Amino acid sequence: MTDGTTPTPTSTVRLRGALDAVPAYVAGKPAAAQAGITAYKMSSNENPYPPLPSVLDVVREHAGRINRYPDMGVAALTAALAERLDVPPARIATGPGSVGVLGQIITALCDPGDEVVFAWRSFEAYPILVALAGATAVQVPLTAESRHDLDAMAAAVTDRTKVVLVCTPNNPTGPSVRADELEAFLDRVPQDVLVVLDEAYLEFVTSEEAPDALAIHRARPNVAVLRTFSKAYGLAGLRVGYAVAHEPVAEALRKAAIPFGVNSLAQAAAIASLEAYDELDVRVKELVAERARVVAGLEEQGWEIPDTDANFVWFGVGERTPELAAAFQEAGLTVRPYGTDGVRVTIAEPEANDRLLEVAAAFPRP
Ligand SMILES: *Cc1c(COP(=O)(O)O)cnc(C)c1O
Repeated sequence: MTDGTTPTPTSTVRLRGALDAVPAYVAGKPAAAQAGITAYKMSSNENPYPPLPSVLDVVREHAGRINRYPDMGVAALTAALAERLDVPPARIATGPGSVGVLGQIITALCDPGDEVVFAWRSFEAYPILVALAGATAVQVPLTAESRHDLDAMAAAVTDRTKVVLVCTPNNPTGPSVRADELEAFLDRVPQDVLVVLDEAYLEFVTSEEAPDALAIHRARPNVAVLRTFSKAYGLAGLRVGYAVAHEPVAEALRKAAIPFGVNSLAQAAAIASLEAYDELDVRVKELVAERARVVAGLEEQGWEIPDTDANFVWFGVGERTPELAAAFQEAGLTVRPYGTDGVRVTIAEPEANDRLLEVAAAFPRP
């Protein structure tokens, strides 16, 4: 306790130099209330619908036992996933969100100086996790269509590359990679480099050319699939995700996990959500239909929106990013601006999407 007279001594504790290279995560802002209008949060790609009653009941039931540690081995959820995905349980590694699992991947594979190749822009947790490990991020620019440039990514692989991250569909721009280009890319990547297919938005994918990541994983020992309960399953606040990887890799990911990282409510809710998937899928289909309506409306207005297979749309407005984000905000829609690259807007409730279209229509364009 300081009594207000003793000065607080300055810390001289030696922190890791690698922290200087860690960028800050910019989280989507909460909805901001405006006078007279309902505010909507469209900044974090969350599911706008509240949890299913059956899932909430399970969470409530387990809440009565949070004095106990969770199952450290996450056995019941692992078994449920293995059955649903038709893979051996030994190929599954869980973590606190797929961001947590990705941290385990980087920890398990990268020493300081090793390289991790990924597209940019892509998910902003990537450079953070890579820098935390003291590894080097190799960022390969997206194409003019805001898609992964898989040729350039294959060319960026060196002897130091340990991991390649492929975000499909890509956050924040929306397109999936195509199955054919992904296969051609994988043919070029050395077998000792792990390729992670980040499918956080898998459930929203409708493109017929999108890859079957699990099938590719089965055929290729250096391919892992990363998935989450945060988006389509609507459990972002509980933090649970998983990877499917071949056994030595999956075992390493379990080793690299923080003990008891997946809490008991998350484990129970994830199992209940797998069981209730048909019910959740109705909502996913509604969001996909809303996405189609929004994209069609924007195109009618003359906007060029990258093909999106996820629950968001991308406005690549460059220097006008702050201006467009402010226009949405003024209408009560909190969106996610990215510097001077563009604005990502999550597909939300129909009323919110209507307003999205109104703001986009009114935004002055050359
Ligand atoms: C949202 C998202 C995740 C999921 O994060 P969680 O930690 O599971 O909540 C993973 N990858 C991408 C590309 C995302 O957009």
